[in-house]
Amino acid sequence: MNKLLLRISELPQSIQDIIGMYNVEHRKQMKLICQYLKQVQCDDCGDYISKIKSISVSILFNDYIFCCLSCAWSLEYDIRKGHIQIMHN
Ligand SMILES: [Zn+2]
Repeated sequence: MNKLLLRISELPQSIQDIIGMYNVEHRKQMKLICQYLKQVQCDDCGDYISKIKSISVSILFNDYIFCCLSCAWSLEYDIRKGHIQIMHN
């Protein structure tokens, strides 16, 4: 860590945040964070995908989010199979 960054790290956090907003890397880093915040997790495989590309499906009165139709089919099959087994026991 260079001397300037070391001295900045000794300042109060609120002042460090203000200095950080003027950092040339701030906009690039904020873009990555915003992209991350716009993502959702697939309920079947656990992959992260953008909300726009996600598939929302209601299965037995519960809402699920999937990355692809294969994941949607896979989890729906498991849920319906489990539900049928419960009904027959
Ligand atoms: Zn998936």
